[in-house]
Amino acid sequence: MSNITVCARFRPLSSKERSNHGDSVCIHGIDNESFIFKDDKEENFKFGFDRVFYEKSEQAEVFEFLALPIVRDAFNGMNGTVITYGQTGAGKTFSMEGPSILACDEQKKGLLQRTVDELFDCMKSSDASVKFTIKLSMVEIYMEKVRDLFDLSRDNIQIKESRVQGILLSGVTEIYVFNSAEALQSLASGISNRAVGETQMNMASSRSHCIYIFTVQQELTKEKRVKAGKLLLVDLAGSEKAEKTGAEGKVLEEAKTINKSLSALGNVISALTCGSPGKAFHIPYRDSKLTRILQDALGGNSRTALLCCCSPSTSNSAESLSTLRFGTRAK
Ligand code: ADP
Ligand code: MG
Repeated sequence: MSNITVCARFRPLSSKERSNHGDSVCIHGIDNESFIFKDDKEENFKFGFDRVFYEKSEQAEVFEFLALPIVRDAFNGMNGTVITYGQTGAGKTFSMEGPSILACDEQKKGLLQRTVDELFDCMKSSDASVKFTIKLSMVEIYMEKVRDLFDLSRDNIQIKESRVQGILLSGVTEIYVFNSAEALQSLASGISNRAVGETQMNMASSRSHCIYIFTVQQELTKEKRVKAGKLLLVDLAGSEKAEKTGAEGKVLEEAKTINKSLSALGNVISALTCGSPGKAFHIPYRDSKLTRILQDALGGNSRTALLCCCSPSTSNSAESLSTLRFGTRAK
């Protein structure tokens, strides 16, 4: 049994896609696990996933299927990762943050707001004798450099490994959050810092990976030790191919770096799903900063969820097909 859940999500057609003459929907749903995908050459492909979220899917459904079990695991001291993958404009950030992290009606809340709510609900209903604390960090990986989104002066965070604590981001800001409102305020400040950094570097947010790290610590007073579960939510850089846009110079370098880290992620996930349990096999975590940071929250006892976000439009069918194939490889 694999600990990896792979889902596909199709956002509604955008107004641009709708007004574009000849732009139609390229998916024909079969059920909530499979669909037929028709590319721009009218060729049909059948895909199957653990769950397919069509255009009318609700944010709550996506959260419950993908993230809820992982959030609960964090309370049992386990690590886990939820990843959104796809081309720019496919719905990764919408799935993560909703239309806005702070000003967002209940129905549109994304994985982040729901994760925060669930974390504090779990804390409230937990055994009063266990003391829980929740810490939050936010980093961005751009051109293989890790930046602290709570302190932009820390722009070259090193990744270390400790035998007891696992993967550590050396010197990264950790904010203790005591309720949902505080957690959301912190997330919002990290998100707005991200925008500031992008302007400074003249970079689009779609060119970097954003990682939200929640650590749930519990003090086991009787046993006199601290147990911690780490939950990582990852809004990946856009997976689109650079050749199509005729990129050169800096943009081409960005694209190559992103491509390398996304293939490293694909390789790690497929090594995890293909390997036979109990047997030592090589997982290439060290091939990118992304996989290195995720190392102790992918594989082993950790649960991983991958949401492959796609446009439903034929005009984007080549990129959607590549996203769906990435997802298929991860299963
Ligand atoms: P990405 O982060 O993958 O680049 P976004 O999440 O920013 O893409 O989505 C692009 C646009 O599509 C945004 O305007 C967003 O609000 C809209 N969108 C994405 N997914 C959905 C959805 N499931 N329902 C409604 N609108 C969506
Ligand atoms: Mg985005």
